[in-house]
Amino acid sequence: MHLQVGDAAGWASSWRAALFQLLDDIPPAHRPFISSISIDGTSATTLIVDSETGELLAGPFLYNESFPDALPAVESIAPANHTVCSASSTLCKLVSWWNTTGAAGGAGSAAVLMHQSDWLLWLLHGRYGVSDYNNALKVGYDPEADAYPSWLMSQPYAPMLPSVRAPGAPIAVVKDDVCSQYGLSKECVVCTGTTDSIAAFLAAGTTEPGRAVTSLGSTMAIKLVSEARVDDARFGVYSHRLDDTWLVGGASNTGGAVLRQLFTDGELVALSRRIDPAVASPLEYYPLPRKGERFPVSDPDMAPRLQPRPESDAEYLHGILESIARIEAKGYNLLRELGATAVEEVFTAGGGAQNDRWTAIRERVLGVPVRKAEQTEAAYGAALLALKGADRRVGVPS
Ligand code: ADP
Repeated sequence: MHLQVGDAAGWASSWRAALFQLLDDIPPAHRPFISSISIDGTSATTLIVDSETGELLAGPFLYNESFPDALPAVESIAPANHTVCSASSTLCKLVSWWNTTGAAGGAGSAAVLMHQSDWLLWLLHGRYGVSDYNNALKVGYDPEADAYPSWLMSQPYAPMLPSVRAPGAPIAVVKDDVCSQYGLSKECVVCTGTTDSIAAFLAAGTTEPGRAVTSLGSTMAIKLVSEARVDDARFGVYSHRLDDTWLVGGASNTGGAVLRQLFTDGELVALSRRIDPAVASPLEYYPLPRKGERFPVSDPDMAPRLQPRPESDAEYLHGILESIARIEAKGYNLLRELGATAVEEVFTAGGGAQNDRWTAIRERVLGVPVRKAEQTEAAYGAALLALKGADRRVGVPS
């Protein structure tokens, strides 16, 4: 279930309303047959809740809200370049709140930290303190050791951290009042969730090492299933755990936003038809919507390169699509150089996935099969996690 952020003052209540509206939208005849539910949420969107009353004590702090005040304290306890060492990390949100309110006892000892999906799932199952290792990465959980590191456990706010399970693990059955209000089965089990972007990856249904998903939206993000874990803060590359493998990701600033600055979607379709994808374009661009690149080259001052512009718009578009494909190939090569499994097959999500000529260009440049992913909605990935949980529901507390 993918929920959009609503009005500033009432995010949490609008998420709650959306969740129950969605349950209400399910035709009553189907509801008794739902065997499990899971929900993905935006990574690093954080709430602090009173575990005695269920009341919201602070937040939601949104994924992109920055807490630079907490950064020195976090940097002093975490290893250098750790994922938590970013002012918008979940840990910076927690530490900032702790330093202003929590340490002074403003919340008593009942305060617990929840991610967006933990909180929504909690509305359905009612147990405190359960999360998944994808969401917990940005608060400092070590998915390799399957534990919080000792530098985190020794902090005074450590008791607020949730216990962590694999995504798609059964937590408990749906609360009685929710079951009876919505006509759900008393056997319906609520399972741990994941982050939005991992759910969108899972939707493509590809979890074998060497399989990847390139998301060609406004920007270009790549995600590769790898046997080895790879992290490199210089390029914003980090790994999420995916059962016994790793999901390695990197995101470039190139992508559809540049195309949109130059062409309408209709022009893209018409001009693409005039491109022969079997022929390599000699034009060498670096399409960026503005200055700055993160991956596969880390250079905040890199300028967009979109010249020389040929007379033919189709040739121009060909050069741009080919150049973005070269950046994509460079991205997968960089992940390989950093130690990840080599890419063998790429599925595509986002607006660019519609363009068959571009897919053919990418296939030639990447040298591996490229296909459009059949499913790309994060909600579909969350449903796959629920399915996994339904298969493992033995001994679920009720
Ligand atoms: P986001 O969710 O990141 O905003 P989308 O996945 O909705 O992006 O994709 C939108 C992007 O897809 C736009 O930037 C647009 O330029 C690009 N796009 C749309 N149609 C085509 C096409 N036929 N070929 C290539 N790119 C396209």
